Amino acid sequence: MTDAKLPSEALAATASADPSFSELPLAPSMLANLRQLEYLHMTPIQAASLPITLAGHDLIAQAKTGSGKTAAFALTLLTNLNPRFFAVQALVLCPTRELAEQVTQEIRRLARGEDNIKILALCGGSTMRPQIASLEHGAHIVVGTPGRIMDHLERGSLKLDALNTLVLDEADRMLDMGFFDDISYVAKQCPVQRQTLLFSATYPDGIARLAQKFLRNPQEVKLLEQHEDSKIRQRFYEIKHEERLQAVAVLLKHYRPVSTLAFCNTKQQCRDLLDVLHAQGFHALTLNGDLEQRERDQVLIRFANRSCSVLVATDVAARGLDIDQLEAVINVDVTPDPEIHVHRIGRTGRADQDGWALSLCSPADKRRVAAIMQMTGGEPEWHTLGSLQSGNDAPLLPPMVTLQILGGRKEKIRPGDVLGALTGEAGFTREQVGKISVTDQTTYVAVARNIAAEALRKLSAGKIKGKSVKVRMLED
Ligand code: ADP
Ligand code: MG
Repeated sequence: MTDAKLPSEALAATASADPSFSELPLAPSMLANLRQLEYLHMTPIQAASLPITLAGHDLIAQAKTGSGKTAAFALTLLTNLNPRFFAVQALVLCPTRELAEQVTQEIRRLARGEDNIKILALCGGSTMRPQIASLEHGAHIVVGTPGRIMDHLERGSLKLDALNTLVLDEADRMLDMGFFDDISYVAKQCPVQRQTLLFSATYPDGIARLAQKFLRNPQEVKLLEQHEDSKIRQRFYEIKHEERLQAVAVLLKHYRPVSTLAFCNTKQQCRDLLDVLHAQGFHALTLNGDLEQRERDQVLIRFANRSCSVLVATDVAARGLDIDQLEAVINVDVTPDPEIHVHRIGRTGRADQDGWALSLCSPADKRRVAAIMQMTGGEPEWHTLGSLQSGNDAPLLPPMVTLQILGGRKEKIRPGDVLGALTGEAGFTREQVGKISVTDQTTYVAVARNIAAEALRKLSAGKIKGKSVKVRMLED
């Protein structure tokens, strides 16, 4: 937020345009925490849904990715919670582990104002035993994937009799993944007297069925707002079908974005594009359903920490991911569904940043572009590849490099240990170190590209938590 630099009239105008959290019946400690997090104004979905949910109603809310849905339900379930009562009082179901982890982190941040609220993530892909042990210690809020939650209910390690709030997050995605029966099983274990909140980016048929079964007189909020033109600059490039993949490289060389999400309509197109980009020296990775969870985590970490320039993905693979600082979205293929197009380009130009939305259109795609424009309004801005400068042939290198340390949470490594090792004896500055991500067995640290080799050497020669560690550089 740049409010501090605005003159006072402008500040007043901003404040009245965007409703403040202080208008809501929230605890003073919660309001203070929100100010600390610099959540100065509610996002539109928060402003539309919180008055309803804080009054105790069930809710169906539809809004695009990145619109702040997590806080909309988190503030509700935290308000419903009694921290002195040690039982699971809220359950959030999410489609995938990484979404569950993002949600867990966001709830933790929002719960900071209160002492001792225990929030537990229960997802597949991790062993059961530590999860059972954590449940025995007690948790107030559980976030998890439907299958794993069902496992715990069947074993009796999780009890939901004291639950007051049930949240179905990314409900459309959970239905896509075939979780309808699992969700039903879990919902039936919850007390009838409860508040149920359903969040979704789209509204396919299954949602109404889910809502009818498990929500009581829900109120509906639907926000498919247009993105501000000033933030997302959208351009359409006329291409011949056969130059499509090559054209992606031309766009990257011209615009030189640090992070780009490239959408393809099929997995095969993702693979082909990856080959073309690698052959030209780009640092690109792809996300697809064939990856194991650990590989998927690694791809996302490398992209988010700015050591990979391009993430190539289908819509399914990229759903729900919260990636900050995306300078560009490239539609390698134009999608036939205008709503999906709006979701795709909404990934860039978030927060206070500008972003490019670049779409490659062969003559056969023109009809799709017309459908998009009919939905969003406005005129498409057409360009040709020939108009792009070809002068800059310097390779597009990501600013950071990821070092992988063998050892993670299991070895009790924390981000501070790694930062300490790099800025302590190794002598690097805080600015040369980027994101540090600790997973169960592995730690990833991004370092500035120009110090990567030296950092690798010093970490390998030094110690973390008193032990020497194996480190390797992830560059491909
Ligand atoms: P969604 O679930 O709709 O995709 P998220 O809940 O993940 O969106 O929120 C997207 C980002 O916006 C997160 O990084 C979150 O911390 C941030 N955010 C949410 N609400 C606010 C707010 N009121 N002010 C500032 N940032 C916010
Ligand atoms: Mg979300």
